[in-house]
Amino acid sequence: LTTGLESAWNKLKGEEVLTKENIVEPMRDIRRALLEADVSLPVVRRFVQDVSEQAVGVGVIRGVRPDQQLVKIVSDELVKLMGGEVSQLTFAKSGPTVILLAGLQGVGKTTVSAKLALYLKKQASPGKSCMLIAGDVYRPAAIDQLVILGKQVDVPVYAVGTDIKPAEIARQGLQEAKKKNVDVVIMDTAGRLQIDKTMMEELKDVKRTLNPTEVLLVVDAMTGQEAAALVTTFNVEIGITGAILTKLDGDSRGGAALSVKEVSGKPIKLVGRGERMEDLEPFYPDRMAGRILGMGDVLSFVEKAQEVMRQEDAEDLQKKIMSAKFDFNDFLKQTRAVARMGSMSRVLGMIPGMGKVTPAQIREAEKSLLIMEAMIEVMTPEEREKPELLAESPARRKRVAQESGKTEQQVSQLVAQLFQMRVRMKNLLGVMEGGSVPALSN
Ligand code: GDP
Ligand code: MG
Repeated sequence: LTTGLESAWNKLKGEEVLTKENIVEPMRDIRRALLEADVSLPVVRRFVQDVSEQAVGVGVIRGVRPDQQLVKIVSDELVKLMGGEVSQLTFAKSGPTVILLAGLQGVGKTTVSAKLALYLKKQASPGKSCMLIAGDVYRPAAIDQLVILGKQVDVPVYAVGTDIKPAEIARQGLQEAKKKNVDVVIMDTAGRLQIDKTMMEELKDVKRTLNPTEVLLVVDAMTGQEAAALVTTFNVEIGITGAILTKLDGDSRGGAALSVKEVSGKPIKLVGRGERMEDLEPFYPDRMAGRILGMGDVLSFVEKAQEVMRQEDAEDLQKKIMSAKFDFNDFLKQTRAVARMGSMSRVLGMIPGMGKVTPAQIREAEKSLLIMEAMIEVMTPEEREKPELLAESPARRKRVAQESGKTEQQVSQLVAQLFQMRVRMKNLLGVMEGGSVPALSN
């Protein structure tokens, strides 16, 4: 998928603005990439049309390349398609909250039952008291499985056996939960390999009995194109309030995630990311968009960058650049900020379009960062604030070289680099009169 989208962005290199003509090919790649990620065809069609319309209308944004614009639009639309925000679970205003889990066999319902109980129990105050109801009467092993998982997470399991109708188990279980003042009741149910009438009828009976607060459809992230039909059927037949996407730790690209909201109007609320009981998390549409696009977690990159360089710092820096006062102190702050953002490799990996960076290149970048720091550290405060002093005086450069154990050539390079950075940053900010790089006097 990544390759498909990368070629989509690459086709826009050198273009000035997104037009009806030049997005045709990239949009074809995006369409193919989404289909390869198992997003269902009607969803893809609608998506491509929406994005194309928007892209042609955006016009030129200074400093933003058209391929970056298209990445942004595609990513925003994906996030929107998946519901935009994190969707919380709903809790009953009074009495126990009842959560009914449904889904095909093997998707992870029984596992999710116990994971969800642990998740709710561990949540910040007040953690909820939970009870599990074993409702899979077709496989005795399924009841044992839930009992074992219940023990693992230390949550009681209501299990009565297999010779009794699921709706009756539900009725008794709920009664028990009310008696014990349990906050949340989670009912596990049986699944079939395919949707069948008996299963649906049974589920309807269970739902009628429980009057659940949440009916969550458990969907395996590996489900391909069928996800749309599956979600539609369960939603029409039973009525769901949301979905849980499991096995996201696998190598599926998660295209099923895109279909859920689009065909049912109901959000994915949680995701399963492994076989351990702790592996259940809220569903973050933006992270999922990143995964589907295969272009790294752009959002967390932006957040990290913001965290590192707080707003005031950024404004202060901007003023300095505008007045060409960007000095070695700022230079140091900048390079250290980059270092703090985690290893270079991680940062570079998060930037879309960076492609593969070799470990050798990363080591090289980290090494030159250390060299720069060593030289700046031995500069006098005056020299740091007025890089011109170093540009004008070979003697000063020589001293810096000696004290930092670097060569004079390295010091000259650093000084030149600072002035080049001033120019680049000024251009970046769109200031018309660019600064100039002084020739170093000898
Ligand atoms: P059910 O038939 O829907 O109740 O499915 P189960 O809960 O019995 O799960 C079927 C298999 O999938 C089990 O081996 C689980 O350990 C595994 N499984 C469930 N959720 C996940 C997940 O998020 N990641 C991984 N890797 N495996 C999972
Ligand atoms: Mg099961």
